[in-house]
Amino acid sequence: MMGARPGKKNMQSKVAHYQTPVKNLLLGGHWAELGGGVPIAAKAGANAALMVFKKENKTAFTAMAAYMDGKTDLAGLLSNPAFKPYNGHWKAEPTPAQKKAMREATAGE
Ligand SMILES: Cc1cc2nc3c(=O)[nH]c(=O)nc-3n(C[C@H](O)[C@H](O)[C@H](O)COP(=O)(O)OP(=O)(O)OC[C@H]3O[C@@H](n4cnc5c(N)ncnc54)[C@H](O)[C@@H]3O)c2cc1C
Repeated sequence: MMGARPGKKNMQSKVAHYQTPVKNLLLGGHWAELGGGVPIAAKAGANAALMVFKKENKTAFTAMAAYMDGKTDLAGLLSNPAFKPYNGHWKAEPTPAQKKAMREATAGE
């Protein structure tokens, strides 16, 4: 349910971390932070992206950091030429349970 349980012991031992011993390999999910769940995983993913931008693309880093700090809105962020346009066409593959439900729904027709 969560990467590392939040608490004194894990905080002191710095069990949660973004940097790994492998060069250029960062953690960007719930193992990167104490606590867990989707909000922590999303936060860690955003922070890991910022760390990559900081190293590789300062313009993207500055724009993204401004967005994260609430200094610009999403439209302002996406209008920055550092980001390529994305039309949001990605669709999630149905899960096995959804596929089964679709098969069952069409079988009854
Ligand atoms: C039953 C259950 C209920 C939960 N309910 C909630 C809830 O209500 N609210 C909440 O906030 N959190 C909930 N959580 C926790 C939440 O789902 C996780 O904290 C969150 O999904 C972690 O996100 P992540 O991106 O770090 O890891 P994951 O979502 O586990 O993503 C890791 C991805 O890496 C992929 N992967 C693994 N190994 C490889 C490999 N070698 N190569 C390529 N890909 C690989 C996996 O297939 C997976 O897609 C729940 C978890 C469980 C198990």
